[in-house]
Amino acid sequence: MEYHYFDNAATTRIASGALEAYNRTSLDCFANPSASHSEGHRSAALLSRCRQSAASALCAQERSVFFTSGATESINIVMSSLLCSKRPGRILISAIEHEAVAAWTGFLREKGWTVDTVPARGGFISPSDVYDMTDSQTRLVAVMAVNNVLGTIQDIRSIAEAVRARERESGRPILFFCDCVQALGKTGLRPGQLDIDAASFSGHKIHGPRGVGILYLKKGTIQVPSHAGGQESGIRGGTENLPAIAALAAAMEALDIADQQKVTVWNRLIRKTCSECGIEVLSPDRDCTPYILSIATRLPSEVALRMLQDRGCLVSAGSACSNNARGKAEAVYRAAGFQKAAGNAIRISFSQDNTDEEVEELAGALRSLVS
Ligand code: PLP
Repeated sequence: MEYHYFDNAATTRIASGALEAYNRTSLDCFANPSASHSEGHRSAALLSRCRQSAASALCAQERSVFFTSGATESINIVMSSLLCSKRPGRILISAIEHEAVAAWTGFLREKGWTVDTVPARGGFISPSDVYDMTDSQTRLVAVMAVNNVLGTIQDIRSIAEAVRARERESGRPILFFCDCVQALGKTGLRPGQLDIDAASFSGHKIHGPRGVGILYLKKGTIQVPSHAGGQESGIRGGTENLPAIAALAAAMEALDIADQQKVTVWNRLIRKTCSECGIEVLSPDRDCTPYILSIATRLPSEVALRMLQDRGCLVSAGSACSNNARGKAEAVYRAAGFQKAAGNAIRISFSQDNTDEEVEELAGALRSLVS
C-alpha cells in the first residue's frame, strides 16, 4: 500500500546525496583513517574534510566536533563524564528531555548524585527557573533545544546566560549541555554561536544515515572514563565509520532552512483542519518548529494512529525511537500540562520530502477520523 510518511521526527529517509556519499566512500575510500599507508592517509584527509564541513555548519571550531554513533552515544559521553568527578554533585535536567538524557536520572541517583527536574509548563523551560534551581553544587544543566514531541523551541541563549550567571556567583564551572537533535535543519541554532558547552546531533534525523552523530564540545575536551583506541582525540575510541560520516556531512550541507516555508504552510493547514474538526492542537503556535505538530483527538492515541494508517498516513504516538515509546511521549505531554489529552495525543512530523498532495490527504484523513 502506498503511504504518506509523517513520522520524520522519529527518523527520515536518507537523501540521495548522502546515500551517494555513503556508497562512494564505502567503495573508494574504505581504508582505516589511522593506517600509515597512502590509502589510510586518503581516508584521514576525507575525515578531516568532513569535520571541517560539519564544523562550518555548526559555526564551530573543528576541534569541537567529534563523530559518534549517534546522539545517544554523544549524550552518554557527556553524562558518563560526571562519573569522573571526585564527589557526586547536583545536576538539573528539564522535564521534557529525551529518554537518552532522562534515563540517566536513576543511575546517577544510585551513584549519590542529586538530580532535579526543571518544570516545562506548556513545553517551555523558563530561564528564571533554571537560574533559581542552579546552585553552587550544580555540575551540569541539560536543556534540549527543540522538543521532539511538541516541537517547542527553548530560549537557549537566555538559559545559557542564567547558567553563566550562577557560574560567576559560585565561582565553580557548570557544564551546559543542549540536546540539539531536533534543532538541526529545523532552526537556525548553531552551538558555536551560543554559550553552550556540549551538544548532541544525530544523522538519521536530517536525512543522513543511522549510526552516526556528533558530539560538540566547546572547549574540545571533557573527562571520559576510557581513551581506548585514541580516535576522535580520545573522546570516542573505535574505528571511524567513514562512509556514514561522509554521508552525514553531505546531509548537513544539503540542509536548507528555506524548506521551512513550505512546512509552515502545511503546519497551518493541519492546524486549521484541526480547529474546524474540534481536534485539540497541543503544540503551541509560537516558539514552535513547524516540522512537529502534536494534536489530540477524542480517540486513544493507538486507535487514532491505526485509523490514520488505514487511510495511508503514518504518524506517531510519540517518540518512536525509544522503547515503550508511547509512555515516554505521554510523560512529555503530562510534564507540559496536557494531563487530560496525553493518552489521546498523536505527533505529526513533516520533512521536505512531503508534498502538498500528501498533506491534503492527511487533512482529509483527520476529518474522516472525526466524522
Ligand atoms: N534526542 C532527541 C531529542 C531525539 O529526538 C532522539 C531520537 O529520537 C535522540 C536524542 C536519540 O538520537 P539517536 O537515535 O541518534 O541516538
